[in-house]
Amino acid sequence: MKFSFYTFNNIEFFKYIYNNEVEITFSTRNGGVSKGRFASLNLGYKTDDNLSDVIINNAIYFAGLDYSPMSVQTINIEHKSNLVTLPAKDIFPRGDGMFTNLNELILAMYFADCLPIFIFDPVKKVIGLVHGGWRNIQDRIAKKAVNYLKHYFSSSPRELLVALGPAIGPCCFSLKGEVAKKFQKELEEFCQYIYIEGDRVKADLRKITQVQLLKEGVKEENIFHLPLCTFCNSDLFYSYRRDRGVTGRMLATIRFIK
Ligand SMILES: [Zn+2]
Repeated sequence: MKFSFYTFNNIEFFKYIYNNEVEITFSTRNGGVSKGRFASLNLGYKTDDNLSDVIINNAIYFAGLDYSPMSVQTINIEHKSNLVTLPAKDIFPRGDGMFTNLNELILAMYFADCLPIFIFDPVKKVIGLVHGGWRNIQDRIAKKAVNYLKHYFSSSPRELLVALGPAIGPCCFSLKGEVAKKFQKELEEFCQYIYIEGDRVKADLRKITQVQLLKEGVKEENIFHLPLCTFCNSDLFYSYRRDRGVTGRMLATIRFIK
């Protein structure tokens, strides 16, 4: 699995197609109309950007991908590691991960540093998109996602294909104070990927997630990476931490190719 970089008109995005069955995308910040700190393809509505610019950006982006906005399903992120199956009764479901076996739905989630976890079960025909924020990774959300698929869709971990998209890298992610101590303690078994630097605890969230997946039986050759750091690559990505909270959002999507 390898992500390719696409440009369409002025928009730039990453895309991966698996076996002509499933398509995964991840947007960059380029090709939209937003200004200043939100320049330019800010797709996140829950930001302080000009709302009309965000609406235009979403229209530009979905036209570029040739997706019908009516098919796009998002979820209200809570950082509590709850997972849901779609369609749900609630039009705006809450949770940090969503799954579906419906061909019609395009699963979409906003990011600016957190790790996008794309999952596809080619046997049971299920797709999923999970939000790998550090709190969720501390809650072992990758493990929860695999177990959720086993329980609700009878998935076999050995069959699962997982892609981990761009996120804040070990070069730039750190915590301090009590949250750092708790993070380090709760993820003791992943100490290989957690480093102390001065008064800070640094961590490789991608590797910790990968090991969580491997421990649940996902095969290493079925885990794919687009290992770009959102904090380092300011020409491509928004970064919540780099931009001190005033920034845009990239959009991750996964869908079945009909
Ligand atoms: Zn970095």
